[in-house]
Amino acid sequence: MNPIPVFTTPGARAPHTIRLDARAVVDAHGVQAAPGSLLLRVGAAGCEVLAAGAPGLVDQHPGSVGAPQIDLPDSVLTPGHVNAHTHLDLTHIGPRGYDPADGFDSWLAMILRERLHEEGAIRESVRLGVALSIAGGVVAVGDIAGVGRVEAALELRASPLLGVSYVELFGVGDRQATVLRDAAAMLDRVGVGDANRVRIGLSPHAPFTAGSRLYAGVCELSARTGAPLCTHLAESVEERRFIEQGDGPIRALLERFDVWSDAILDDVGAGAHPVAHLEPSLRAAHWLLAHVNDCPDGALPMLASTAADVVVCPRGWAYFGRGETVGRHRWRDMLDAGVNVALGTDSVVNLPREGPARIATLDEARCLRERDGADARTLLRMITTNGARALGLQPSLFMFDPGPIAGVVRVAVGDSSDSDPLAMLMDTGTEIETLALGSLVGERLRGALEG
Ligand SMILES: [Zn+2]
Repeated sequence: MNPIPVFTTPGARAPHTIRLDARAVVDAHGVQAAPGSLLLRVGAAGCEVLAAGAPGLVDQHPGSVGAPQIDLPDSVLTPGHVNAHTHLDLTHIGPRGYDPADGFDSWLAMILRERLHEEGAIRESVRLGVALSIAGGVVAVGDIAGVGRVEAALELRASPLLGVSYVELFGVGDRQATVLRDAAAMLDRVGVGDANRVRIGLSPHAPFTAGSRLYAGVCELSARTGAPLCTHLAESVEERRFIEQGDGPIRALLERFDVWSDAILDDVGAGAHPVAHLEPSLRAAHWLLAHVNDCPDGALPMLASTAADVVVCPRGWAYFGRGETVGRHRWRDMLDAGVNVALGTDSVVNLPREGPARIATLDEARCLRERDGADARTLLRMITTNGARALGLQPSLFMFDPGPIAGVVRVAVGDSSDSDPLAMLMDTGTEIETLALGSLVGERLRGALEG
């Protein structure tokens, strides 16, 4: 894999103004023009939209006079994308197949075997993940970092991406108090950080690997420190069975990993669905919930009555064959019920082996469009402003209204005959290029600015 785009600050004489004339310019909230132009100012303070829309409209902006200009007649321009759920510290593993006949156990064993433990190697894997994200048009991530370790989070903080690095916590039974104490000490040591860059948050892994006291404890920690929270929830039928009944394949797994104790039964086995099981914590803090593949009628209004956001990973859902077990994903019902739903890729492990080397939520959006006939504007919202909201970032950074913007992405659409830029983007777009990211520009913009 050699996807790493070269990004540099656009020279010492900042800020620079540059004009892009494209097949179309589109965001999820009303800017839509084909052909479309974008007038940007890039400098040490970041990237700013001066004007966006029809070329004639952009002509009227005084900044467009004499600005270097780039023609992109085969491309649609969008704001940078958000990947609200990924595991960048697993990037070194690369895409791997999943054989349901082999079972989840052997997949998990592979992850545990391949997971890195040495600081430099973890950082390198995250760096590769950052590069693949940028190659996929992603400028902000909700990343799950390691297990109680902070290297991956610090590496993300050193990268040009925005978002949250959620340090993952495992702790059931008697282990919960220790895990909480360590998490509090870790946050005191490194600080939650700047809401406009990368914050460090916490992620109890899932209700079957993190006990209720751990969930309640991180809610208190979040209230005290402002740390954002994430967890995997309602991912599988096995999880539902374990939370409802305290038995099944997940209990067998915990026993095999030697983390089972009967004290866990104080927490689970009372017949509650995973969403209901976690309800007290969902009401005590703001959560980002990964997956919620298993969302029966009773769980949906409960979910909608909390402040929780949901991140769906369509290709991961297919990879693990969730359709055959939990049925179709109810992301549309969630949106209709008022839940903020974003898209994520999950780890690179569950992405296809073929195709371009990138970790792209545009590819997730296309998957959902193909599978569920999703509306293109809704999808663009899910990978831009909905993702921003889920991560506590300013949604305006992912829109083309005049003002600061997190990044600009070009999607090549060839000679698509579609007249709707959103349909072009979702149905015919192939090549993705991040043109600008914060105060950095890629080679194409740098070339024009220096030329
Ligand atoms: Zn995950």
